[in-house]
Amino acid sequence: MPDKIEIRTITKKELSDFLVEKGEKKFRAKQIWEWIWKKTITNFEEMNNIPLKIRNFLNENYKFETIEEVSSQDSSDGTIKNAFRLHDGHVVEAVLIPSRSRTTVCVSSQVGCNLACRFCATGKLKMQRNLTAAEIFDQVAWANKLSMKIFDRKLTNIVYMGMGEPLLNYDNVLSSIERITSEESLAMSPYRITVSTSGITKNIKRLADDNVRFELAVSLHTASNTKRSELMPINETQDLGMLSDAITYFHQKTGKRITYEYLMLKGINDSIPDAIKLAKFCKIAPCKINLIEFNSIDSEYKKSDMEIMEKFANHLEGYNLIVNIRRSKGKDIDAACGQLANKTS
Ligand code: SF4
Repeated sequence: MPDKIEIRTITKKELSDFLVEKGEKKFRAKQIWEWIWKKTITNFEEMNNIPLKIRNFLNENYKFETIEEVSSQDSSDGTIKNAFRLHDGHVVEAVLIPSRSRTTVCVSSQVGCNLACRFCATGKLKMQRNLTAAEIFDQVAWANKLSMKIFDRKLTNIVYMGMGEPLLNYDNVLSSIERITSEESLAMSPYRITVSTSGITKNIKRLADDNVRFELAVSLHTASNTKRSELMPINETQDLGMLSDAITYFHQKTGKRITYEYLMLKGINDSIPDAIKLAKFCKIAPCKINLIEFNSIDSEYKKSDMEIMEKFANHLEGYNLIVNIRRSKGKDIDAACGQLANKTS
């Protein structure tokens, strides 16, 4: 008997053709599709308006490769971090971050990451494999259900900033977004989705050519090539010049503003000359800068003092730049930026 196929890798037409071949009516495909993508169930038994005979056909030919919750940690600031076991035993993490008006989920796109950014816990874990679109979708579906349960509101925002470099899992990341935004699924607005990259320049250009509607964030962290190569080895092969070309191309094609993520590291990238360099870099395209409080536990780096962060922000604002200071959330459960490292696995 041939191997069963993960049902969430097939198209609606393929599902419909399968059912017709089995002598069933086409409208069953619509019903099943709704169970899978709108109600986000992950077994055939729960499809209670589908006759048992069809559920049995499905069971014999298809399977769900779902993610399974293995642990959950609550932070004192309301952040919830979950670890999920994948069907092959690997573990990834996702974080639900509530605020007054929003519920955001930060999802993982790879098991581990090979880019080895020096401030990042995930970068210390060797990359094992890409997540499938369904495995990424499952993290969003989990967050949506949890948000409904705890806050009585749907998930509002999604950020691809968990474990892994999303643009090195390009096809699956884009196909997960296609599902999340589809009217036949969660129907979330693409403008509420942000994909964050360490600067995979070829694929930033590819996003522009694909005319994506979601938002792009770039983990910049410094506008000095020397410092960036020290912090992020990716900069050795794709430096700020290449990054700047890719961002310019992306903005010209999509008209979109870029968000820069900038972790504030004490004595490393938080001086006024650093701010001047950053302001100069930011001239390439309309942008927003998020200055992020670093969580220094278990790291060779220290976080900048709040007073320094404010001075840095004020200096940038002097160049008419939009700047936000982001306090790190979920620090007590290792769920803050750069802290996802499967310590629970
Ligand atoms: S910051 Fe992102 S790209 Fe860098 S090592 Fe961590 S997960 Fe990978």
